[in-house]
Amino acid sequence: MSMQVRDFDIVIVGAGPAGLTAALYAGRNKEHAVLLEGKAPGGQLLNTELIEDYPGIASILGVDLAEIMTKQAADFGTEIAYGADVQSIHVRPDGMKEIETTAGLYRAPALILTAGGNPRKLDVPGEAEFAGRGVSYCAVCDGAFFKEVHLAVVGGGDAAVEEAVFLTRYASKVTIIHRRDHFRAQPILMEQARTNPKIDFITDTVVESIEGDASVQRLELRNVVTGAQSSLDVGGIFIFVGFIPNTKLVDAHVDHDAGGYYVTNPMTMMTSVPGIFAAGDVRSQLTRQITTAVGDATTATIAASKWVEEWKRGREDSEAELEDVMVSGA
Ligand code: NAP
Repeated sequence: MSMQVRDFDIVIVGAGPAGLTAALYAGRNKEHAVLLEGKAPGGQLLNTELIEDYPGIASILGVDLAEIMTKQAADFGTEIAYGADVQSIHVRPDGMKEIETTAGLYRAPALILTAGGNPRKLDVPGEAEFAGRGVSYCAVCDGAFFKEVHLAVVGGGDAAVEEAVFLTRYASKVTIIHRRDHFRAQPILMEQARTNPKIDFITDTVVESIEGDASVQRLELRNVVTGAQSSLDVGGIFIFVGFIPNTKLVDAHVDHDAGGYYVTNPMTMMTSVPGIFAAGDVRSQLTRQITTAVGDATTATIAASKWVEEWKRGREDSEAELEDVMVSGA
């Protein structure tokens, strides 16, 4: 069976806020672009209940913002290919990128990677059930919804400890639950947490289940050293046990940092491979917000447009050179 092959100037992979912004800018620039999405558009927006930190919009549901961004991108003419799950990516010697998907082969000189990632899950009963109803993976996004509530934070890395300190702005109390008694978080963050009167610690302990009714009310815990079980009444649980970027597809070609994120040129968002750009949660950077994803994607798309122009000019030049050779050879 022959695979459908389609040519574009820019292929964008992943329709979260970064990908949808790239599609919007590509459309407005009149680029011949396509946005590939395996599932539903929205990315992490779909896992976020309410958004109150997107400038200009006082408050909006994650699903609603995803819908508006998708419509806005499509209205400017960028094609959105659904069900196009990317299987592999190859770079040809002339710089052309070939993106093999479950919906056919896409080719373009410029590729913008915006496939995002996912917070690592605890995989305990109640976690999926109470997502958005007391289970959160983002303190900046959801902290303000827990005013004067006792919260649990799970994890022992920089993210867990830093976010626990942040959450004390709202919560009545924050209990950090960690599976060991040694924390990998930096000493300065540990110092901030230990001296914060609202923070206490439960160590050598794992969460076995998350219980509640309409929302989270209680955690069932187990001490991994003694085996003792206990319950903790909380109104919410913030889980920070790592983040997994979707960067496996172009592992072989593109430079990554230790966490697996793509390293990009801050001026252009270009990766170590000419013509491959990255934006949003797949990119190595300080923070992962909707606003930063949107900013990265704007830069990446404008840079990609310029890059495509140069690539085409370069190819015309080399074709002209080739013609010269042929003419002089004749
Ligand atoms: P991380 O450093 O990988 O820490 C993950 C934490 O979660 C570890 O304490 C780990 O426990 C725990 N954990 C993993 N799987 C678990 C499970 N199934 N159940 C219970 N606990 C589990 O991840 P991160 O904190 O998200 O940080 C990621 C990177 O970003 C790091 O390089 C970090 O330095 C950086 N970062 C820096 C800052 C900052 O500098 N201010 C802020 C945030 C993040 P163990 O310790 O037992 O393995």
